[in-house]
Amino acid sequence: MEILRSKKEMQAWSEGVLAQGLTIGLVPTMGYFHQGHLSLMEKGRPLCNRLVVSIFVNPTQFGENEDLDAYPIDIERDIELAGKTGVDAVFLPTRDDMYAPGFQTYVELTDLPNHLCGKFRPIHFKGVATVVTKLFNIVKPQVAVFGQKDYQQLQVIRRLTRDLDWNIRIEAGEIFREPDGLAMSSRNTYLSEEERSSALSLSKALERARQAVAEGTRDVTTLEQDVIRFISSFAHTTVEYAEFCHPQTLENVSTVEGKTLLALAVRVGNTRLIDNTVIDPDN
Ligand code: AMP
Repeated sequence: MEILRSKKEMQAWSEGVLAQGLTIGLVPTMGYFHQGHLSLMEKGRPLCNRLVVSIFVNPTQFGENEDLDAYPIDIERDIELAGKTGVDAVFLPTRDDMYAPGFQTYVELTDLPNHLCGKFRPIHFKGVATVVTKLFNIVKPQVAVFGQKDYQQLQVIRRLTRDLDWNIRIEAGEIFREPDGLAMSSRNTYLSEEERSSALSLSKALERARQAVAEGTRDVTTLEQDVIRFISSFAHTTVEYAEFCHPQTLENVSTVEGKTLLALAVRVGNTRLIDNTVIDPDN
């Protein structure tokens, strides 16, 4: 497995692969791998000839009071896990290489970031769209894999790819969960033991709402109130949002008709967790 530590090395490697008529797959990450990350690599592996994983804690997607400086890192372990998962190259650019002095060009979407996480993290999706654009330009993939765990991010990337006319197939990986239901996240490592058990309120709330819809409840105000009340009954939780939305536009809906996204963001102690599910009332 190749370890590429600069844009220049990465570009040269990709150009070499493409010159041989082979295809490249990319799994962008911020590292500190868990099984969710590895499942995206496994999904990407058969879809391309050469699989690249990037590890870059992207400063432009973190707000001022967010956890950029605390974000967990273990590059050696990540490299080992990527190797075992059949990755061909790990791209590890530095911040200075990605954002050289004088950097001033950003990519911004007009509508999708006005919903869900974007309302609470105003610069987040501008940072995501910018770094993904740069990664696509550097790595030159024909396929890229993103997790549905970051549902809004996935929609942003699908839209970005269409809007900028890239011929890149965007594949979505399902949310990988701990045996008790907690969605895997590098940020779960911040949780104390007590917070860890309160963090279960997210996946339990999704299941509860799914059940309520299956039993015939369609009114979103009723469903949302129940979700918020349920999560708030757990210690250390503060609900940032619990919203039912159209699964592509992310516009709020007032009744559950057809496939509907239920997306949650909850603070458990100081840790911000997200989770989501798409509920189909007809199934
Ligand atoms: P991150 O390193 O948190 O930026 O995540 C990198 C990629 O892994 C993103 O596409 C995430 O959506 C995806 N991801 C994160 N957590 C999970 C999970 N539990 N299951 C599946 N994919 C995930």
